[in-house]
Amino acid sequence: MNDINTTSEVRHTIEGQNGEWEIIIGLEIHAQVTSESKLFSGSSASFGGAPMSHVSLVDAAMPGMLPVINKHCVRQAVKTGLGLNAKINSYSVFDRKNYFYPDLPQGYQISQFKYPIIGEGEVKVSLKDGEDIIVRIERLHLEQDAGKSFHDIDPENSYIDLNRSGVALMEIVTMPDLRSAEEAKSFVTKLRTILRYLETCDGNMEEGSLRADINVSVRRPGDNLGTRCEIKNVNSIRFIGMAIEYEARRQVNEIENGREIIQETRLFDVSTGETRSMRSKEEAHDYRYFPDPDLLPLNLEDDFIKEIINELPELPDHKKERLVRTYGLNSYDADILVSDKNYAEYFESVANGRDPKISVNWITGELFSALNKLNLDIHDSPVSSEQLGELIDLISDGTLSGRLAKDVFEIMLETKKNPKVIVEEKNLSQITDESSIEKIVDKIMESNIDKVAEAREKPKLIGWFVGQVMKESQGKANPATVNNLVKKKIGI
Ligand code: ADP
Ligand code: MG
Repeated sequence: MNDINTTSEVRHTIEGQNGEWEIIIGLEIHAQVTSESKLFSGSSASFGGAPMSHVSLVDAAMPGMLPVINKHCVRQAVKTGLGLNAKINSYSVFDRKNYFYPDLPQGYQISQFKYPIIGEGEVKVSLKDGEDIIVRIERLHLEQDAGKSFHDIDPENSYIDLNRSGVALMEIVTMPDLRSAEEAKSFVTKLRTILRYLETCDGNMEEGSLRADINVSVRRPGDNLGTRCEIKNVNSIRFIGMAIEYEARRQVNEIENGREIIQETRLFDVSTGETRSMRSKEEAHDYRYFPDPDLLPLNLEDDFIKEIINELPELPDHKKERLVRTYGLNSYDADILVSDKNYAEYFESVANGRDPKISVNWITGELFSALNKLNLDIHDSPVSSEQLGELIDLISDGTLSGRLAKDVFEIMLETKKNPKVIVEEKNLSQITDESSIEKIVDKIMESNIDKVAEAREKPKLIGWFVGQVMKESQGKANPATVNNLVKKKIGI
């Protein structure tokens, strides 16, 4: 593990007008807990629904209503903490974070401040260049989501939908350990993969189930931390990268031109790719946190935590290790396969009793490009893992050449038929029998006698003969056998 970073090591810099700058990034990720019901009420937590249709008296903050903690959400937070190799705090406290907002009828958000349910953890992230970094997690706490205001439906009025009010969120805070847009994107991708393996958050960024507040500062390599700005609520991995790149450039430019960075909250504008000021720290809220008197501190029993440990699935890092060890895969292929547990599952089904390298090549090559074109998940693949396995068997036993196999694969995509059926129906199997191939070679040579003589002087013409024979056999002749026979007959 000595290729792992230390936080003081300079990993990445950008060029300013006069020298190099390091970018420092810390993320606060809001991940919606996968749960049927809300954090403190029984109303549905599902996405969408007619406005105000998932709202109980608790969510609407009617006077006298009392919150009741949802055990499933607590379980999900603990599970996530375990997946982030983090400390599970058996004692945690829910606080009121007080602020006024039209879509927050309580006048406060129930969150966790001093005593979060999950403490320090760490996530290993593989970068594109093959290097691994460790990103430290500062904490994870549970909190409520707010409602949603609509200012663009009516020219005179704003509308409020409280369906999201009270939905459980996990806020996951990293230490300032990220050093480039690329690293931040890889981290969020890895985090999303872990959450999906755990089934604690669906990771759907378009629906807002996962969104990031991005803290960015710049410094001269090795200096102390500089003043940071926070970019709020970015909801796509690509935008996270764009926001960081723009913001780091802006800060370098400010400092190099003798101006100071003011700590502030900024917004990322998708249409321009720029960040702009939203509010400065001076205007920042004083939330006057205090423990919510309606809720007791949360005490987790050892047995409850043990039960969750026993339910944990195999997580991406372990799966990768096992795939490398069991199938002899390289790190690059293994990373692709574990990035989605359904990929890994599909692979293991194909590779069962077959060559792992051929299996992974077919999956990440032909299959992924087809799914991409068809815009389908591997779950909905028209070619099942059993069918792809059968196709690979037909290559291994010599029935199909690589070329023919690709043709058969195309037909499989269209018809969902088994490869053996397609080979029979279309009479596609490879001709390996030497005497049959010889007949075709002879035929081509007889009708091109002049070229045969020429080929003895110009061996390049062998390729032409091989091509003609392949064409005559409709691509079915075994290319190696054709090549040998042509050479032998020409006398080279
Ligand atoms: P606050 O108390 O204002 O929420 P925190 O210290 O908890 O601030 O940090 C919030 C986030 O900002 C964390 O993700 C942290 O890693 C990140 N962060 C803190 N200082 C810096 C900095 N100088 N540059 C970049 N990110 C930072
Ligand atoms: Mg903080």
